[in-house]
Amino acid sequence: MSKVFLVTGGNKGIGYAIVRNLALNYANSSPSQPLTILLTARNPTLGQNSADKLRDELKPNILVDDGGNVDLKFLKLDLVDEQSIKDVKEVIEKDYGGLDVLINNAAIAFKGNAFDVNVVRTTFATNFYGTLNVCNILYPLIRPNGRIINISSRAGRSSNLSSTLKQEFSKEDLDIEGLTKLLKRFEDAVERDKYLEEGWPRQAYGVSKIGVTTMSRILGRRADKEGNNIKVFACCPGWVKTDMAGDKASLTPDQGAETPVFLSLDETVVPKSPNGTFWFDKQIGAW
Ligand code: NDP
Repeated sequence: MSKVFLVTGGNKGIGYAIVRNLALNYANSSPSQPLTILLTARNPTLGQNSADKLRDELKPNILVDDGGNVDLKFLKLDLVDEQSIKDVKEVIEKDYGGLDVLINNAAIAFKGNAFDVNVVRTTFATNFYGTLNVCNILYPLIRPNGRIINISSRAGRSSNLSSTLKQEFSKEDLDIEGLTKLLKRFEDAVERDKYLEEGWPRQAYGVSKIGVTTMSRILGRRADKEGNNIKVFACCPGWVKTDMAGDKASLTPDQGAETPVFLSLDETVVPKSPNGTFWFDKQIGAW
């Protein structure tokens, strides 16, 4: 039986580097099982082209067809198209029977200073609700000892919130419904132009990532209660040169992929680490 990993937004940037480095690191670890990586993207042409390009690069030795132990497949998955997530679920159920690691990498960020309630709603639709939908729909497929890695950001720091809001996001009994209500309060405050007075930052992307980090903590707590040994982590890749962050950023996409790949493959530190934690530079950090 093959291990199965899925990466969203795998056609470019950090997502593409995650798929590439998962393949290389896994192949070099003398694994006892083959690995199938599902590179997913919302645009089928871009996704298939990226998968083909990567297959060409990885061909000698690494790919299953060449005697290696990594298989690479493209599937269409758009975070804001629920049917596309359900279609992916069906393919995984039918072809593989389960999923070992889900890497929620896809996200958007408006350029420049754009900020109003529509920017907030559009950003949340992909980064928070889209990621949540992928988690909810694919969670039943995650095998015992599996992992969900959510690519969040230090732009979603709790220090950007008032101390009252920080406490609300940090509550040990906060559930997904409560988190969604908090994020709706932000939307509402932006619509009324009262967000600064009510303790929120002027950041659609940052607050969406506060949502992703908090969601990971909640799902981690839930997994612990279920006792299936599934781990859920959030992480920041660092400031990475991609279409999102631009050329001035300090890290290459391969460097940005290091922490997510570590969280996906490590078998010594990660299995013993507390569920729902936020990681940066391969270490647990404050969010
Ligand atoms: P890019 O903009 O280069 O890539 C984003 C990826 O997400 C693309 O593949 C894009 O697809 C995909 N995507 C966007 N919307 C959707 C959707 N609705 N459904 C499916 N895929 C979608 O960004 P990065 O590689 O820089 O970012 C990757 C992750 O890292 C994100 O979560 C980002 O927030 C996070 N991050 C990045 C940092 C950086 O410095 N770069 C810093 C901190 C966090 P398409 O090509 O079709 O647009």
